Amino acid sequence: MKHAPRKRFGQHFLTDHSVIAAIVSAIAPRAGERLVEIGPGLGALTVGLLERTERLEAVEIDRDLVARLRHRWPAERLMVHEADALAFDFKTLAGSDRLRLVGNLPYNISSPLLIGLLSSRKVIIDQHFMLQKEVVDRIVARHGCADYGRLSVMLQAHHHVEQLFDVPPEAFDPPPRVESSVVRLITRPEPMARDLDSLERLMAIAFAQRRKMLRGTLMPWLRSQGLDPEDPRFALEPTARPEEVAVTQWAGLADALFSLRSAAPAR
Ligand code: SAM
Repeated sequence: MKHAPRKRFGQHFLTDHSVIAAIVSAIAPRAGERLVEIGPGLGALTVGLLERTERLEAVEIDRDLVARLRHRWPAERLMVHEADALAFDFKTLAGSDRLRLVGNLPYNISSPLLIGLLSSRKVIIDQHFMLQKEVVDRIVARHGCADYGRLSVMLQAHHHVEQLFDVPPEAFDPPPRVESSVVRLITRPEPMARDLDSLERLMAIAFAQRRKMLRGTLMPWLRSQGLDPEDPRFALEPTARPEEVAVTQWAGLADALFSLRSAAPAR
């Protein structure tokens, strides 16, 4: 029976074999690695991956698709976890191993998933994902670009990021309304910022008013937190806007805020 694609699960199935081959070769699976596919769907990528590796794990939310996948491959080859990837515990899955995550992600959950996965970064070697091109443009944007923002800083502070190639809507059934792109995220051995929570809080403040100069919003807030924003080690230009501040500068500010918070007596 043909599966009717479910909009609520962002189902756009890859059908272009050259795109599938390009993604599999970018991932370049090797024997002994723990590969986990998020949202295997009808198995378009799964087939290509299983040609290159003995065993694969997958997290899929749609119970009909889970049943199809389990029927098609034995659990020794494809272990399917029926779960919401947003709530899935990748740390427990990894145990003492480290994982390689891959997938053609449902576009409606991609940003929260990528941010959520930061808390599991110690068990993740790398990630290869197909996403909406606009999201990949934001992930890889450097400071000074219009696409640069919270997602760029949060992800670049923890990963080496690389946009691999674009994929047109015709490569999918049904075709999405937007262009797609494949991104590679390699977890940095040491994140640029020591504390994820401090960086996240800073980003929420910093990019809430991205068109405003730092002297009008961010600098007064930093003062209210007990930091001197004119300290030369932060190299902040009062007339700059948040999108002009480099990831290393944001990481330095987050570290300083973290040190202040850690030094404050517990109440
Ligand atoms: N990998 C397949 C392909 O390339 O043809 C399917 C990709 S489709 C864009 C997204 C897949 O993710 C679907 O199979 C969908 O059911 C699944 N999915 C959607 N939301 C999910 C979630 N929160 N957790 C896990 N899987 C999810």
